[in-house]
Amino acid sequence: MEKNIAVIRGDGIGPEIVNEAIKVLDKIAEMYGHTFHYTDVYMGGCAIDRFGDPLPESELKKCAESDSVLLGAVGGNQWNDMPGHLRPEKGLLRLRAGLGLYSNNRPAKIWPQLAEASPLKQSIVDKGIDFIIVRELIGGIYFGEHKTEIIDGENTAIDMLTYNEKEIERIGRIGFETAQKRNKKLCSVEKSNVLDSSRLWKKVMHRLAEEYPDVTLTDMLVDNCAMQIVRNPAQFDVIVTENMFGDILSDEASMITGSIGMIPSSSLGAGSCGLYEPIHGSAPDIAGQNLANPIGTILSAAMMLRYSFDMPKEADAIEQAVSAYLSAGYRTADIMSEGMQQVGCKECGDYIVACLCQKEETA
Ligand code: NAD
Repeated sequence: MEKNIAVIRGDGIGPEIVNEAIKVLDKIAEMYGHTFHYTDVYMGGCAIDRFGDPLPESELKKCAESDSVLLGAVGGNQWNDMPGHLRPEKGLLRLRAGLGLYSNNRPAKIWPQLAEASPLKQSIVDKGIDFIIVRELIGGIYFGEHKTEIIDGENTAIDMLTYNEKEIERIGRIGFETAQKRNKKLCSVEKSNVLDSSRLWKKVMHRLAEEYPDVTLTDMLVDNCAMQIVRNPAQFDVIVTENMFGDILSDEASMITGSIGMIPSSSLGAGSCGLYEPIHGSAPDIAGQNLANPIGTILSAAMMLRYSFDMPKEADAIEQAVSAYLSAGYRTADIMSEGMQQVGCKECGDYIVACLCQKEETA
């Protein structure tokens, strides 16, 4: 297969971690007979320096014309005092809106080799934690009307929470389709005992379930879900939920896995073009020192293969190579522990490529 990938290296550690992900993608292309074409896109602080704009139209167009976008991270102290429209993060918001990305998907996975990094009890971690939260990204209370006015003589704040059937259906489909590519279990999370928007949410999910008979749908109230994520996270495969619930639950879920440098994410819209990026920022404190952990970006590339390019074998190969690298005892500084061998960002990428080569030789 031939695919065009827009590559946003960004700022801080962005260029270093993206370089390692590209090394891994190039090895996958060689192993499986694919061709990946990369187009460099400037976004964030580097785009402000180059064009005076965190994401000029011409750069956004390159992303829209690609099959998918791989992003490192943007931002840094030198752009902190810029006016709002000239902040690096504005580029990211413009990119999400420009590509119509309404779904954010964040895996929560504990690698057995890093189980000690989890704040959860060993007995809970041992059951295995590997699920994805599919969060609606551009609707709900964050995008409703916000106002504060005097009502009955009291200063009163109002935030509107609205969802229509179409908005629920399109994120619901991403939930079902994600479950189809995994263990076919979808948990729809809402607050239908209190909220009308949640009752509509539940109704739409059950209507959609008839179109996806291979997926088992369950419902869970959000307060119970927050408890279950720490009590028995092994029960989950895919969780689908609205914007605010997803915001809170996905942070809770990333916390139980222990290391920010390991977690990938994807944002998807109507087409197959997605945005793939690690969940962390540009880590200016360690930029340019070969200290960053590139695994969150490498696993984001694996998600791109699985969810945008329909290449499950290739995605599995990357995930298995990351696992083999961890089992061999290599660690970047952020996840270093006693008895392990510390490596830099570049060596981490090299070792993961070497693990792919070993797989190729034994195949
Ligand atoms: P951060 O995630 O960049 O860093 C938090 C801490 O985690 C730092 O100590 C950093 O060294 C460490 N860390 C992060 N990623 C790491 C990795 N891959 N390997 C090893 N250690 C890692 O968060 P921050 O310091 O709050 O933000 C720094 C900049 O990044 C800010 O300008 C912020 O606006 C921006 N930011 C960008 C994104 C994005 O591009 N999507 C997301 C969050 C923050």
